[in-house]
Amino acid sequence: MRMPKLSRILATLAAATMASLGVVAAEASPALAITNVCYNTSQAGPFAGYANQAASIWNAYTNNINMSQCGTNLMIYYTYGGGSYAVRYSLGNGYVVIDYYQAQQYSPLRIMTHEIGHILGLADNYNGNCALLMSGGSAGTACTNPYPHYTEAAAVDSWFRSASPGAESARVFSDSWPAAATVGAQR
Ligand SMILES: [Zn+2]
Repeated sequence: MRMPKLSRILATLAAATMASLGVVAAEASPALAITNVCYNTSQAGPFAGYANQAASIWNAYTNNINMSQCGTNLMIYYTYGGGSYAVRYSLGNGYVVIDYYQAQQYSPLRIMTHEIGHILGLADNYNGNCALLMSGGSAGTACTNPYPHYTEAAAVDSWFRSASPGAESARVFSDSWPAAATVGAQR
C-alpha cells in the first residue's frame, strides 16, 4: 500500500470541510485518480540515485502521478556518448538513456528529470530559460535546475487526468543537451 500524498490528504480534508459547510467540491472524485508510473533502475548504473531523486521531484510537483520502483514501464539506462534521450511509447511508458559524458557537463539530475519529463508527456522547449525543465541544454551547462516549472507540472497533471491523445503519441526525444565546449574542441 502506498502512503497517501499530502496533497490528497489536504484535498480530502478540504472536501470534508466544504461538505460540512454544504458546499460541493468541484474537483471531488475524478481529479483524484492517480496513475502509477513504475520505473526501474536495475540498468541505470551510477544514475540510479538520480532516477530516485527525479521520481521524488515529479511526485512532489504533480498530483496525478506516483512514481515508484513498482515495475518496468519506465526503464532507466545509461551509455557512454551519443547523447541522452528519451523514447516514449505512450504516456508514462518508455525508456530513458543518460549519456555518462553529457552528465559530466550538465547537471545529471536536471538531465534525468528532463528526460523523464518526456515520458510524462512533455516536449522540448529550447528557449534558454533555466526556470523551465524542458529547456534542457539550451539553458547552458551552468543551469542545474532539476525542478519542473509549475506550468510543466500542470501540463503533466492534465494529461494524466484526461489521457490526452496528443501527449500519448509515441516519440523519440534526442539532442536535448548540445555538446558545449566539447572535449574535442578544447585544445
Ligand atoms: Zn529533451
